[in-house]
Amino acid sequence: MISFSLTEEQLALQEMAREFAEKEMIPNAAKYDKGDQFSEDVMKKAFEVGFLTCTIPEKYGGGEMNDLDTVVISEELAAGCAGMYTTMMVNALAYTPVILFGTDEQKKKFLTPQTEKMSFASFCLTEREAGSDAGALKTRAKKIGKEYIINGSKCFISNGGLASFYVVFANSNPEKGMRGLSAFIVPREAPGVIIGKEEDKMGHRASNTVEMTFEDVKIPETNLLGKEGIGFIIAMKTLDKTRAPVGAAGVGVARAALEYAIEYAKNRKQFGKPIALFQNTLFKIAQMAMEINAARHLVWHAAWLMDEGKPCGKESAMAKAFGSDVAMKVTIECVQILGGYGYMKDYPMEKLMRDAKLLQIYEGTNEIQRLVISREVIGPIV
Ligand SMILES: Cc1cc2nc3c(=O)[nH]c(=O)nc-3n(C[C@H](O)[C@H](O)[C@H](O)COP(=O)(O)OP(=O)(O)OC[C@H]3O[C@@H](n4cnc5c(N)ncnc54)[C@H](O)[C@@H]3O)c2cc1C
Repeated sequence: MISFSLTEEQLALQEMAREFAEKEMIPNAAKYDKGDQFSEDVMKKAFEVGFLTCTIPEKYGGGEMNDLDTVVISEELAAGCAGMYTTMMVNALAYTPVILFGTDEQKKKFLTPQTEKMSFASFCLTEREAGSDAGALKTRAKKIGKEYIINGSKCFISNGGLASFYVVFANSNPEKGMRGLSAFIVPREAPGVIIGKEEDKMGHRASNTVEMTFEDVKIPETNLLGKEGIGFIIAMKTLDKTRAPVGAAGVGVARAALEYAIEYAKNRKQFGKPIALFQNTLFKIAQMAMEINAARHLVWHAAWLMDEGKPCGKESAMAKAFGSDVAMKVTIECVQILGGYGYMKDYPMEKLMRDAKLLQIYEGTNEIQRLVISREVIGPIV
């Protein structure tokens, strides 16, 4: 049975997220974009309504949203401000390995406090020499007695300057290559955790992105997630779950751009009539509306598969790549519909275009998504 309708609860959630975006995010989006600062006042409110901890199971104090709920709110929040959305949803990215692979003790110790006061967490995979090739990372974890000692540096870490814990991927058995990777929970207060410089970014400027160094950081063996050697699997299973929300963010950014461009085109007159009446504008709008709808369907399908516990690697990759490509394409087109005004910072369109770009890059570039998709579609060759 196919159903495209949301439940009453999901509709209420969607409405709540849309209102939050309209009241709290949109009015503050330009300010935080210009200032390149952490939107603390908005995040306090986001914490109060549960968006910062929405995926944490109820048992540990969170909202226990399922995957469809998460993509529904992701679209709305990213339509408000993609940078603030990233701050919120990177928490979900960092919590996912703990939710999927953590013990009850680890969840109580690390997730519950996040639900008690506004807190953040980070997912530390990427390194200078290991971006798309995540298996090649150089951070090392050496076991001595009942402790691990972690050494290495990570780059482009979202929420790194704000986090109270980090999920750090390190190789604990380098001779095994990718099979030597493990994932560890590293508390911020552990000696040797060094927060580096904040990156100056094109878009998502309201989100915090830093370099992180781990210098002889000692953590107890109880902070290992799952078991040694499954770090790569933990990273991939996490990204399978978090890619559809990135696609949903693409839908949100594209929808915000299209809605603005439609209003603009109805009001902007050239040659004595609204530019919306030119067939060129109408066809562009129709094309964008089709692509946004198609992206949303891919995103919802991937989320539904996840909620059903069915394999979803290919569909999550499709949702992420298609949703973010649509965001890029639509925002470029909408800047064009606004003409010169689209290029000006007094209008929201150029920010939407800058914000769309990151969605094609983080959580695995869209080229890597296409590798995932093609491997599954084509299967083994000879
Ligand atoms: C603002 C921002 C926030 C981020 N937040 C986080 C975070 O919180 N945690 C984290 O761990 N990481 C984070 N990242 C890192 C992000 O996931 C990586 O930037 C991304 O995976 C790409 O890695 P790279 O930048 O090293 O590019 P590279 O891997 O060097 O890729 C460069 C280009 O080559 C292409 N390419 C590479 N390999 C292949 C291939 N096999 N086939 C075809 N094309 C290929 C890529 O698609 C890309 O176009 C963030 C990045 C940014 C910019």
